[in-house]
Amino acid sequence: MSLPTLDPDAARGADLLVFDREHLWHPYTSMTDPAPVRLVTGAEGVRLHLDDHGEHLEVVDAMSSWWSAIHGYRVPELDAALADQAGRMAHVMFGGLTHAPAVDLAERLVSITPDPLQHVFLADSGSVSVEVAIKMALQTQRGQGRPERTRLLTLRGGYHGDTFGCMSVCDPVGGMHSMFTEVLAPQVFAERPPAPGGDVEGWAEGVRRLAAEHTDELAGIIVEPRLQGAGGMWVYDDRCLVVLREIADEHGLVLIFDEIATGLGRTGDLFVSSQVTPDILCLGKALTGGYLTLAAVLTTSEVAHAISRSESGVLMHGPTFMGNPLACAVALASLDLLAARGWEQDVRRVSSALSAGLSPLAGAPGVADVRVLGAVGVVHLDHPVDSAKATDAALREGVWIRPFRDLIYTMPPYVTGEEDLARICRAVAAAAEVA
Ligand SMILES: *Cc1c(COP(=O)(O)O)cnc(C)c1O
Repeated sequence: MSLPTLDPDAARGADLLVFDREHLWHPYTSMTDPAPVRLVTGAEGVRLHLDDHGEHLEVVDAMSSWWSAIHGYRVPELDAALADQAGRMAHVMFGGLTHAPAVDLAERLVSITPDPLQHVFLADSGSVSVEVAIKMALQTQRGQGRPERTRLLTLRGGYHGDTFGCMSVCDPVGGMHSMFTEVLAPQVFAERPPAPGGDVEGWAEGVRRLAAEHTDELAGIIVEPRLQGAGGMWVYDDRCLVVLREIADEHGLVLIFDEIATGLGRTGDLFVSSQVTPDILCLGKALTGGYLTLAAVLTTSEVAHAISRSESGVLMHGPTFMGNPLACAVALASLDLLAARGWEQDVRRVSSALSAGLSPLAGAPGVADVRVLGAVGVVHLDHPVDSAKATDAALREGVWIRPFRDLIYTMPPYVTGEEDLARICRAVAAAAEVA
């Protein structure tokens, strides 16, 4: 006969899960029929500590907390930066005031991004930065005497965030368009660009035609360069970016690269924008090494000047937590660490391990495609995943993943070691087999 559990931590954990289930929304979940969640009690290195019905489990985080925790957890340098800044001030308004963390971060961002990007807006999340970028494109057109240009050209298969402006440029089929058709700005959608080595010219012809057709109403072009993330983990040919740059120049459109997911090394370049330079660049996710919410919008001087010539004379945006000092200080420490640790070798090392571990899955039953790009590994199934089954299978291998649609993928922290990378690949394989 087993005795009733007296473990106070287990009881506390159970209480938390009960309240969570009844009162707390999680991303894309139902309040009345929620998917199960697991309790995290801590995280260190590349591991999450889970409380599984009173049992302590340590699992490798193959998601980097939605692609942000590139250095892993409880990173001494980042902890120290945060504590140091907390000892000075946690936050002050950015209206009429400024501070060293924001100025230093802006200076660093200007120095590590392509030369033409000189001006920085510090936003409080990726979605807000995309809203700001869209607003900038529209104000740029107003400043150039073309206020009727308010639409955006974008790509099918994209994802740019969950707020209304962002939703309007997300993939119109996989996104939330059907539910909000009447309230979303009607944007112009080009075909999903071809995979590397594909028919770029054929695709370009279609986009050129679309741009020409809508030239009088278009303000800008917005895309995730090289890798379309949450819209389906689609990798595409960099030559498409050259085509988009040409189209933007030809029609006087503001070219926006949303590098919230791809920025800061994830695809093998520090920024895809170093290959083709946009007029506006959005950064987020990994910017603070996954510690705090922060995003940045960088623009050229042409864009900054055009915005100033619009009727208001100013950029019409200013969130309460703009330039939060804690987030800026930890972002700066994260950028220091990225450079000091040699992110390039790390990403190359992760990439080889993912290629070696995942490419054998190509051709396995139920697998449509396997893609590896930088520190991103994707197993694309030929059917929708059974998310619960896939997650459980990976957890049995000691790995946390979060599959969606027909995709099982990993974006591990750059610092993940060889053994943990092999474990991640085994877990992805196990998940793909049962999903
Ligand atoms: C995650 C993401 C966003 C939204 O960022 P949030 O911080 O979640 O608002 C926008 N664009 C891309 C490409 C993203 O991956």
